[in-house]
Amino acid sequence: MHSFHYRNGDLCCEGVALQSLADQYGSPLYVYSAATIRDHFLRLDASLSGLDHLICYATKANSNLAILNLLAKLGSGFDIVSAGELYRVKQAGGDPGKCTFAGVGKTRPEIEFALKEGIYCFNAESEAEVRFISNIAADLGVTAPVALRVNPNVDAHTHKYISTGKSENKFGIDFALIREAYQRAASLPNLQIRGLQMHIGSQLTSVQPFLEAVEKVAPLAADLKRDYGIEFWSIGGGIGIVYQQSLASGRPDWWSAPESGVSPLTIESYASSLLPTLRSLGLRILLEPGRFLVGNAGVLITRVVYEKRGTAKTFKIVDAGMNDLIRPALYQGHHEVVPLREPAPGAQFETVDVVGPVCESGDFFAQDRSVPPLAAGDCLALMSSGAYGFVMASNYNSRPLPAEVLVDGESAHLVRRRQEFADLIAGELIPA
Ligand SMILES: *Cc1c(COP(=O)(O)O)cnc(C)c1O
Repeated sequence: MHSFHYRNGDLCCEGVALQSLADQYGSPLYVYSAATIRDHFLRLDASLSGLDHLICYATKANSNLAILNLLAKLGSGFDIVSAGELYRVKQAGGDPGKCTFAGVGKTRPEIEFALKEGIYCFNAESEAEVRFISNIAADLGVTAPVALRVNPNVDAHTHKYISTGKSENKFGIDFALIREAYQRAASLPNLQIRGLQMHIGSQLTSVQPFLEAVEKVAPLAADLKRDYGIEFWSIGGGIGIVYQQSLASGRPDWWSAPESGVSPLTIESYASSLLPTLRSLGLRILLEPGRFLVGNAGVLITRVVYEKRGTAKTFKIVDAGMNDLIRPALYQGHHEVVPLREPAPGAQFETVDVVGPVCESGDFFAQDRSVPPLAAGDCLALMSSGAYGFVMASNYNSRPLPAEVLVDGESAHLVRRRQEFADLIAGELIPA
């Protein structure tokens, strides 16, 4: 589901009109819906009822403290990819004992910090890392819980930048080499072999690759349970969401029913196709969804600054840039362009590029897109910007980071203030 609908002509997030937030907090502005996040978490959780499981939210998708706190209160664990994310989880009230630590390049300070905080498990991505963790744990006189990440070599059929489960990707240990890797890991001191992990990619829009990977790796999981007493198998994240409205009606329907849109992947189909295999293992199953929990829960509000009509194209120049939301530039991500004020019936649509102010030709949000009338001063929402949005924002072009607001029912909470100029130079020094 999502919680963005027109009410009396105003696009609202739950009970709050987005224009009122833009007026109060300025633009560009990220707005998130608490109800959407709760609904997605609880539905995923319910779809796995009867299975011993833990949802470890992929913190990197959106690591605002308010969102981590909301998920922690629902009982979520966290999949982290840096010590900084572990720090955030702790500050937000999350439980380190429900944290798994992923990533191919963990450093000594990060591993020491995670050991001191007592995380649930390191998901190690190479044998060199396993040896390193063993050494550090020995230095500290503790036992480190580890799982190895297997690369099952299945095709996730997603954008090449977010595919992670093929042999040519840098992630995990080759399926053909994983058993020996466990053997050697088991002989190292100060390690507890606690689990097995995999993650084949992001924004998967069909169940098939998940099913293929689970069926391929399940016998390995069973053997590792028998041989080393592992207690969990994390099957990763990657559940895709709908970004693009269905044009079946021939006319934009403003995203009225995103889950009946273009993705055949529903949470119910995901769970029901994987459950039989997972249940039979008797292992605790971990999931690491990021995008699924927060993607459709957020929008980026931006204001049209200028219109420019060229010979080839018409440009709507907005006050958000690729530094605020990089998905279109980085992986051809699609975001629906929805005006905050509902277009009049019969309004004339026109084909335009929606672009930002940053000095890069990659700085666009939509190209050759049919949009309703948008005049200078009008605000629009870039939909489905809750995941991999703000977290990838930068100060490129010395643009202060946008503010973030969390809406819950009728109330709106500022959960990150807009940066000021002083923030731009904080920490910088001119040599004497
Ligand atoms: C990024 C990542 C995830 C989350 O992916 P989504 O597509 O956002 O669900 C989960 N696990 C690992 C190891 C990741 O790197």
